[in-house]
Amino acid sequence: MRDWLAAAAAEFPERLALICPHIEPDTPSDSYTYGGLNQFAAQQALRLKRAGVQCGDRVGVLVPNGIFTTALIHAVARLGAVLVPLNARLIADELRYQVEAAACKLVVFDPSHDTTIQSMRSLQCAFYTTFSSPYSDAPLLPGETYLVEEAADRQIYLDGDLELDAVQSIVFTSGTTGKPKGAQITFGNLYHSALASAERLGASPDDRWFCPLPFYHVGGLSIYFRSCLYGSAVIVPEYSMTETFAQQMRVSEATLVSLVPTQLYRMLEAGFEPPKSLRLILLGGGAATPELVARYIERNLPIALTYGLTECASQVATATPDQVRAKPGTVGKPLSGTTVRIVDEQGRNLPEGEYGEIVVSGATVMRGYLGQAETNGTFHTGDIGYLDADGDIWIVQRRSDLIVSGGENVYPSEVEAVLRQHPAVEDACVVGIADAEWGQRVAAMVALRAGETVTEGDLIDFSRERLAGYKQPRKIVFVDELPQTASGKIQRRNVREWLMNNQKN
Ligand code: AMP
Repeated sequence: MRDWLAAAAAEFPERLALICPHIEPDTPSDSYTYGGLNQFAAQQALRLKRAGVQCGDRVGVLVPNGIFTTALIHAVARLGAVLVPLNARLIADELRYQVEAAACKLVVFDPSHDTTIQSMRSLQCAFYTTFSSPYSDAPLLPGETYLVEEAADRQIYLDGDLELDAVQSIVFTSGTTGKPKGAQITFGNLYHSALASAERLGASPDDRWFCPLPFYHVGGLSIYFRSCLYGSAVIVPEYSMTETFAQQMRVSEATLVSLVPTQLYRMLEAGFEPPKSLRLILLGGGAATPELVARYIERNLPIALTYGLTECASQVATATPDQVRAKPGTVGKPLSGTTVRIVDEQGRNLPEGEYGEIVVSGATVMRGYLGQAETNGTFHTGDIGYLDADGDIWIVQRRSDLIVSGGENVYPSEVEAVLRQHPAVEDACVVGIADAEWGQRVAAMVALRAGETVTEGDLIDFSRERLAGYKQPRKIVFVDELPQTASGKIQRRNVREWLMNNQKN
């Protein structure tokens, strides 16, 4: 199949592909046409090629959303290489693990991450900063001086082919064992997701999709490819500052926006008024609290509520705004081409109304985790839900003990392992407690070794050095012994209830 960006650039070179609004009033947005973006992607492809990247190589990208990431996403694809989008919020050790696990040949990083990268220099991997500064509104990327020979070489990368069953990216998602797992997403996964999403939400070349989700989450990544296939534009806000989103959406005339519940909550707190151009808010990535649901229903916002996950290249089921109004809380029916079953512990299908594990099958299901068996198109999510009489899906409980705080996943086992590294700590149990803004906050119950003492502040500082900010416990209580079942398993539910009932702040 023809490379999606190249096809878009050939068909409508003058149409807008990417808009990067500024938060300062009166500063015009940087905008890039499909022709211009394709030129820039070709330039990045050439530079990656010169840095030694070949078909099948894995390329880490640790760069904030913007023109560079957009061009790099396409450049990596054009070389037949595999994108490894890296989460800028992780600390050096966490990133090192991912770069090593994915066996990246090269990591392109933004200079702001220089210190983090310095500590990874010992890895068998090349590190490059973003190659040059971008220039807006191409076709010829005015302002940048090319060597004549480079401009000629670049022509080679203006077009390309892609294989639908090739892996486009390895996206890390926290695993239940505590170590993140690399989900291998294929071009086919993204292609089918784009078609099915268009069918459910509608798609028009005039759409402008405001994307404040990082590209290292599939909810963000998928939009970059989807827009090429639709011929529409992606709007990438300058900063992830929710208070400015409404204004940025207004100046860039957004028609669609993807948000996680925490972002919507904050926008509502900041007095969000949807711009006239907006036709749809795609909300997902974690459960919306009943309070948030009540607020958006009352405001009659055009919410489409979605249930999705990395392993299924984003949306699995999405309720349209009409369905959201008629049946608040449901995530609706599976997207076309996707089948959802609710199964019991033996894997048997359950009838409507009964709670069970959500199992997804279809063309959007990832190839498999790195180093693990292939899924063959079926994925056991571990999430619990049920189907109602109309076949609409309701999510009851997230997979196992996963905490989702502000749209980021936190696996308790990973935080517990860090707390246990502290010499004073005997054992720890980490849970999510409900929070109006964040959805959930990370909290811990800790049992200390006999005769040892440590303060809550010290232990939080200890975790700060070892974990990304969003994974750190916000509250820690100390007990003599963690509540256990007769068989010696920690009673996580009791810990959660105790922490919820004893919230002081
Ligand atoms: P991720 O792979 O990081 O996108 O996380 C996916 C997980 O987020 C799912 O497996 C669910 O546990 C949770 N999730 C996603 N959407 C929803 C939703 N609408 N309601 C409740 N949980 C959700």
